Amino acid sequence: MIYRRTLRREVACTGIGLHSGKPVRLRLLPAPAEHGVRFARTDVGAEIPATLAHIGGQDHATTLSHDGVSIGTVEHLLAALSGLGVDDVRVEVDGPEVPVLDGSAAPFVILLHEAGLRPLAVPRLLLRVVAPVEVRHGTKGARLVPADHFEVAYSIGFDHPLLRHQALSLRITPRNFTEAIAPARTFGFLREVEMLRKSGLALGGSLENAVVIGETGVLNNKLRFEDEFVRHKVLDAVGDLALLGRPLLGRLEATRAGHALHAAVAQKLLATPGACELVAPERAPVVGVRAKDLEGPVESPAY
Ligand SMILES: [Zn+2]
Repeated sequence: MIYRRTLRREVACTGIGLHSGKPVRLRLLPAPAEHGVRFARTDVGAEIPATLAHIGGQDHATTLSHDGVSIGTVEHLLAALSGLGVDDVRVEVDGPEVPVLDGSAAPFVILLHEAGLRPLAVPRLLLRVVAPVEVRHGTKGARLVPADHFEVAYSIGFDHPLLRHQALSLRITPRNFTEAIAPARTFGFLREVEMLRKSGLALGGSLENAVVIGETGVLNNKLRFEDEFVRHKVLDAVGDLALLGRPLLGRLEATRAGHALHAAVAQKLLATPGACELVAPERAPVVGVRAKDLEGPVESPAY
């Protein structure tokens, strides 16, 4: 039997918001079983659950909203929580954005290692993909297909000499996530940076927290991986799929996708009758599931 997990103790860090450029304090606290991941905006006294139903925007980052209050740039923290297998945690933030830190999930992984994990007395159910679902937008696409593990296969291609094509396929385990995915940083093209700033975005962006691609190469000293870009896309996908609210048992196949397509394919999985079911690991299905059932706690299954 595998149990749901929370943190062993509280941890905190401070950093700036990528888009606002303002300092934010982040605290991660242990939570009871089936609490899920919830953001608490301590500056305004509001809570925002990290689920697909609360997606408020996906312009260059994933924003969650609830009752008119939002929290931005949640995907790298969500990826770290999902990648390390943390199910229940309260995330306190005293501003509108999660700090960007170095633009990757590595600092969150370090923070979670510092916190340690603790099992809760409730079985950990997985959301198993039973039948493939797909969303397409021109040459971009995302598909969820059945698999024995959580896997991501990603390919990207941009109209830039440095980034014509990169592809990566791997099983997402805590170890693979920590070593191969978490350190990969956000990236952007120099030609887009000015446009973003004009629209009031990326005000906190710098070479400290993003890889910036110029006409002939990256402006940063060096990359952390030769294929850091596709690795970061995998990181974003793991974070966005965490909004399913349950660990995924299936394979994401994404081509030139992004936050909006990641969320769309996840939403389609829940909305398609018979496309997924909740299972206890290594066991037969315990309960059929529909989208509406995922919003509330699931009854403990009888074994
Ligand atoms: Zn990202």
